[in-house]
Amino acid sequence: MSLSSITSLPEIDLVMEQSMQAFLDYKKTNPKERASFLERIAFEIEALGEELIRTTQAETNLPEARLLGERGRTTTQLRMFAAMLLEGSWVEASIDHAIPERVPAKPDIRKMLVPLGPVVVFGASNFPYAYSTAGGDTASALASGSSVVVKAHPAHIKTSELIASAIAKAISFCNLPAHTFQHVEGNGFETGKALVQQSNTAAVGFTGSFSGGRALYDYAAARPRPIPVFSEMGSTNPVVLLQDALELNAEVIATQYAGSITLGVGQFCTNPGLLIGIKSASLDRFKSSLISAINQVPAAKMLHQGILTAYQKNSAIALSTNGVHSLANENASNEINTTPIIANVSGADFLANENLKDEVFGPYALLIECADIVEVKKVWNSVSGQLTTSIMGTDNDFAAHPELIEMATSIAGRVLLNGVPTGVDVCASMVHGGPYPATTDSRFTAVGINAVKRWVRPVCYQNCPDHLLPDALKEINPLQLKRMIDGNPYQ
Ligand code: NAP
Repeated sequence: MSLSSITSLPEIDLVMEQSMQAFLDYKKTNPKERASFLERIAFEIEALGEELIRTTQAETNLPEARLLGERGRTTTQLRMFAAMLLEGSWVEASIDHAIPERVPAKPDIRKMLVPLGPVVVFGASNFPYAYSTAGGDTASALASGSSVVVKAHPAHIKTSELIASAIAKAISFCNLPAHTFQHVEGNGFETGKALVQQSNTAAVGFTGSFSGGRALYDYAAARPRPIPVFSEMGSTNPVVLLQDALELNAEVIATQYAGSITLGVGQFCTNPGLLIGIKSASLDRFKSSLISAINQVPAAKMLHQGILTAYQKNSAIALSTNGVHSLANENASNEINTTPIIANVSGADFLANENLKDEVFGPYALLIECADIVEVKKVWNSVSGQLTTSIMGTDNDFAAHPELIEMATSIAGRVLLNGVPTGVDVCASMVHGGPYPATTDSRFTAVGINAVKRWVRPVCYQNCPDHLLPDALKEINPLQLKRMIDGNPYQ
């Protein structure tokens, strides 16, 4: 059952049992076999061609150019994990040879990372390709040697089914166990809860709302045998606007941020939702440039009705909070199209109203006007636990406040200087994660090759004869030997 419509708990038991059986074989595949599989998935996704793009356009309201870009990112990710497998160092093989003459004798100890087992992935609504069925969670879990069960996001079921069919073709082409990947659709939260709590499930990947991510984490913790849940949840991505930068460039920074706040109708987890500055003439210049740029952004459709309803509800709550004033477009949205919203509040009112720290998912930003730099820091620290935080400043600003960069690292997983947080580059050094509540485990990233580290655990072998060791730990590792013969031990 690689494509299935699941509603009942017994069916979920069967899916997870099949996933475990597939895992027991799939984990024995060598890096080259797994790399070929990931490359084949990328090929099959590309082979879906126009049909895939048209299907997703109809389901998500996302424009063609965005979908083409996201498809490219998804296939690049798959190929990046394939390259990682062929390079090999991700298993962190380490060897401590025996020292028999030592007292007491030192045993031979060798360590590497091994896959956890069946991983359940919850597709995200706002990334139908890159964080969904064959997105970063699935690609990294398959690379680790874990089998995968995807819970399709109901907002793009047909897209998810098409991608699942591409993965099924790749499984068949590569002669892998049929249930290495399975696709589950469900009605309501019972399906997700049952998947997380099924005894064969070894780990969970999720991108979405705080309430959803936290619920899955709690289901997992309540199991007789708890398992890790990597939930990537809400983030308000605070931006600190420093004085010298504003004096020099208020208008330019405002234009940059108007673009970032409204990119993709604000439906990115890195959307800058809080802008923090010191009340001043230069902040006023920034404010009026931001308002005029935002007022020129045309209304657009959000991903689905649920997201639109949540945006309307959450922005209304924020705008009705004591001290909050709408600066742009407050009443311009209708049932179909959304216009961006900019509001402002004093630092004191922000600090007094806990609900203003909540994410308003969509094209919304709150400008927090503080009395001085002390209040800026108080506001910034009060919203710690973010995917990103940005500082707009000149050399003079950083010389006057050298403590800010250090502070930023305690707030977020990605610290940006003089840039906008939207646009997450896929590379080995990227950290897309952050302290709770941005994620449930700040030690890991969901983007880049290190995302694989979520689905593995270390195992060491003590006094294991060479011929019984995994290849990566053998005295003469066949992969290393081949590289030496090829003349490049590092590739
Ligand atoms: P969501 O409501 O969190 O749902 C994502 C997935 O998790 C869905 O498959 C959903 O199941 C499942 N789920 C949610 N709560 C659950 C629970 N208590 N038990 C079991 N399964 C549960 O996210 P969404 O549908 O994508 O969007 C809703 C809101 O999430 C948005 O308005 C926005 O506020 C936020 N969001 C944030 C980000 C971000 O990156 N920060 C990204 C996307 C969305 P069902 O299929 O059964 O509904």
